[in-house]
Amino acid sequence: MSVESTWRQKSQAVRFDTRPVISGRRVESSSQSTLDCVCPADGRTLYQLQSGSPADAGAAVESAREAFDRGAWSGYSPLARKSILSGFAAAIDTNAQELALLDCLEMGKPISAAIADVSACGHIFRYYAEYADKLFGSTAVTAPGLTQFSSRQPRGVVAAIVPWNYPLPNAALKVGPALAAGNCVVLKPSELSSSSALRLAEIALSCGVPPGAFNVVPGAGNTVGAALVAHPQVSFVAFTGSTQTGSALQRAAAQSGPKALQLECGGKSANMVFPDCADLDVVAEDVAQRIFTNQGQLCVAGTRLIVHRSIRTELVKRVMARAQALQIGDPLDPQTQFGPLASYPRMQSVLEHIRGGVKAGAVVALGGEQLAAASGGFFVGPTILEAVTPEMAVAQEDIFGPVLSVLSFDTLDEAVALANASRYGLSASVWTGSLATAHTVAARLRVGRVTVLAGAPNPAAFAFPMGAEPVGQSGFGAEGGREGIEIYTTLKAVEIHA
Ligand code: NAD
Repeated sequence: MSVESTWRQKSQAVRFDTRPVISGRRVESSSQSTLDCVCPADGRTLYQLQSGSPADAGAAVESAREAFDRGAWSGYSPLARKSILSGFAAAIDTNAQELALLDCLEMGKPISAAIADVSACGHIFRYYAEYADKLFGSTAVTAPGLTQFSSRQPRGVVAAIVPWNYPLPNAALKVGPALAAGNCVVLKPSELSSSSALRLAEIALSCGVPPGAFNVVPGAGNTVGAALVAHPQVSFVAFTGSTQTGSALQRAAAQSGPKALQLECGGKSANMVFPDCADLDVVAEDVAQRIFTNQGQLCVAGTRLIVHRSIRTELVKRVMARAQALQIGDPLDPQTQFGPLASYPRMQSVLEHIRGGVKAGAVVALGGEQLAAASGGFFVGPTILEAVTPEMAVAQEDIFGPVLSVLSFDTLDEAVALANASRYGLSASVWTGSLATAHTVAARLRVGRVTVLAGAPNPAAFAFPMGAEPVGQSGFGAEGGREGIEIYTTLKAVEIHA
């Protein structure tokens, strides 16, 4: 039997259980309405998701609040939390096939990439487990008889609201540090990808995370998500998603608060290529990967190729060759490198952006169309747009699909100006062989994360050793690294006169 048919057979055995996990067990949703969960690879309905209700969200928050106040998790020693979360990380790896299959079926992620996502998820939990006993405050130098120190306290109940593009890593980046710091969590996954998050909570429970510490309520954003943000007992909202939703959340949180937020929103990242980079083949590989990985549904996707005019034609030719070599097809086939977009509306939106670009004067050098329509799936081929100018929507909007807009420059100043001509500020990458150019450009870019590549491709996807904060309309608040756990704590200052 081929590996593909093994996965197909496994997929047929999947039974979707999308009831919320609240207080340590599956419960029935009180919602009467449903949403179709559709497989993006062939358009068939996988199951009907109950769209969730404010009552579901309320029950989860109350469970988390009760557990927190009782010290059911926050009262554990940091060492105990570290040990349980390390076991949880290991159990994620043990359940890799099941978790990967759920994401593969629900959002069309190629199975090999879905397996890599599970591994990233386990890695993030392991990373933050290690931080549980490494959170420090500080002590002041004082006059005799006075002791002043600060300590880090968990915030309380954290509502984590995440999108569908990397269901497990996105959840882990919030739930991992929130739990490690002693908070109790209510996670709301995207309505397109609920199942892996729900299984994650069940696995956590089986590893010793106590009931109430990690709840998951699936459902629609404007019911479950909105109810979580508005709930007075939620202390902190950690959000990843579109800028539009992030702004709405900020308004809603202010109405029910003030309430602290972390917003990781849209991006339009630049991939800048200077003519002194050593090997154009390595660059072409990286450019293709940064835009076509996950079908371009990646917040930090290198959507704008900003390349020196002298190497533009040659580089675009090589990127195109790599895009054409991608194996596009059934996400259940382990050889597949490029699958469908996550939903029909996503596909329509991406195609609409491409048509708009062409109307504005851009030229389709590759792709630009739906593929494999007969499959019923939502495939859009890797697309490269030439003749793009900086003010065009395709150079400005967060398309969130496999669309590369090519722009060119003659001078370093021009390159930086082009890269900064965006309302977003998530990330950028820079290809150069010159240390001086690397430092100059990195310092001048208005983004939260800069990757400079001299000759080797980026080896450390999802390592996140350094926290980074988005700027501009990409949001605010650190994710990753030490700062990415400190954000789930408050600083308490104590002064003792004795
Ligand atoms: P989205 O904003 O539509 O939804 C994100 C989450 O918010 C989902 O769980 C959704 O149900 C929920 N939601 C929607 N409306 C809500 C409301 N009124 N109140 C509370 N919750 C609500 O985004 P999406 O389409 O799921 O994801 C794609 C977007 O996410 C893109 O714009 C992408 O750039 C962004 N993204 C950003 C990052 C990052 O780290 N910066 C990472 C991944 C994706």
